[in-house]
Amino acid sequence: MRRLRKVKIVATLGPASDDYKTIRALWEAGADVFRLNMSHGTHADIARRLSLVREVEADTRRPVAVIADLQGPKLRVGTFAAGAAELEEGARFRLDLDPAEGDGHRVSLPHPEIFAVLRPGARLLVNDGKIRLLVDSCGADFADCTVTAGGTISNRKGVNVPDVVLPLAALSAKDRTDLDFACDLGVDWIALSFVQRPEDVAEARALVAGRALILSKIEKPAALKVFPEILAASDGIMVARGDLGVELPVEHVPPIQKRLVRACRAAAKPVIVATQMLESMIESPMPTRAEVSDVAAAIYEGTDAVMLSAESAAGRYPVEAVRTMDAVAQQVERDPTYTQIIEASRQARRETVADAIVAAAREIAETTDIRAICCFTHSGTTVSLVARERPRVPIIALTPFLDIARRMTLIWGAHCELTAELGRFKQAVVNAARAAREHGFATEADRIVVTAGVPFNVPGSTNILRVAPCEERLIYRTDPE
Ligand code: PGA
Ligand code: MN
Repeated sequence: MRRLRKVKIVATLGPASDDYKTIRALWEAGADVFRLNMSHGTHADIARRLSLVREVEADTRRPVAVIADLQGPKLRVGTFAAGAAELEEGARFRLDLDPAEGDGHRVSLPHPEIFAVLRPGARLLVNDGKIRLLVDSCGADFADCTVTAGGTISNRKGVNVPDVVLPLAALSAKDRTDLDFACDLGVDWIALSFVQRPEDVAEARALVAGRALILSKIEKPAALKVFPEILAASDGIMVARGDLGVELPVEHVPPIQKRLVRACRAAAKPVIVATQMLESMIESPMPTRAEVSDVAAAIYEGTDAVMLSAESAAGRYPVEAVRTMDAVAQQVERDPTYTQIIEASRQARRETVADAIVAAAREIAETTDIRAICCFTHSGTTVSLVARERPRVPIIALTPFLDIARRMTLIWGAHCELTAELGRFKQAVVNAARAAREHGFATEADRIVVTAGVPFNVPGSTNILRVAPCEERLIYRTDPE
């Protein structure tokens, strides 16, 4: 099985994708990575969804990464007796600390620290700013507001307070519990919400203790000021456009997205463009033209992955949403303009032997009829470096470690395969050729490029490049080792 595109699709799981059949269908439609949102659902929900993903993974025999997305110091309203309430512009609405279910007049905002810093005139932006409240008066446990933009407010919608500095720690007590729970369950990536400083990432890394990689979600203006340091401290980045576009004027988001995507590629770290990509598909089987253009634009920019949130977690058409992304991606990647843009934005890096080898691998693959670049990797580093080159041919990432194979599924262009622990380079070539043939990348008549680090058990030591035939008999006849 192979995907017919390089960019990856991340699908968030939720009530609309809570059984084996749907998750399997999402995977078949093109979801490469699944996201579990720790803001919604109980630990039992999260554990069940992860084990369903692992079942799909076992049945399809293809590694899949799972991201646990920590809520972070995100403010959310409580729940409503009816699940939701209709707020009309000009009406009064109260937020308070009463845990009782809400209605059209009030709802709980279970964050005492917020009431401590709110003041009249502050804006409260609910559900990505769709609903706006203006504080008229407030106290230690309530805020009476006027609705300045109305709409349906529903259970646990997010609240942003851009006008006051919130005294919040990077990881809440819930985040710490969730992080440990998710790492013990065996997720592959931990996404950190509302990162503001590189120290926030370091703090999380200490808690993760090597059990997963760390994605920093960029959704605060403060994070942009120290973005290079946050990128250096992280294993990957998510452009979290939802909160970013609430905390900053929305028109700031597109240039920020472009800048972050480019910086991540230069650093050879995966980047996900997220939020509202196919928002209308929550309710409709057809996306809007603007949404299709948005997905396409992110792919043209060279993002590693595009993401679905509510579309796949709570929408009516989760599988169709994945299918739409897959179709858009295939179309963009077939466009010669895409290749041109991607190649024009390649930044030459020649600092290490590995940099030079991956650059050579790409050049060889593109000047001859090579079908794939096959990389043996212990840590995944070489695959990230090859992906930074954005080669036209597929990247086959081979590793003896299941956790590494899973993590790499987020990387642009990487078709990840588990392989036996190898002693000899010749065996690596044989395995690479077999993987290329089995998954439809090459036939016996084709050739591939193989990179590896020899000796095999030293990570980060890529030092060998071979152009090899795919036919096993020829490998044995022509390989010197
Ligand atoms: P969220 O993050 O869905 O957890 O809020 C994404 C975003 O803010 O865009
Ligand atoms: Mn967010």
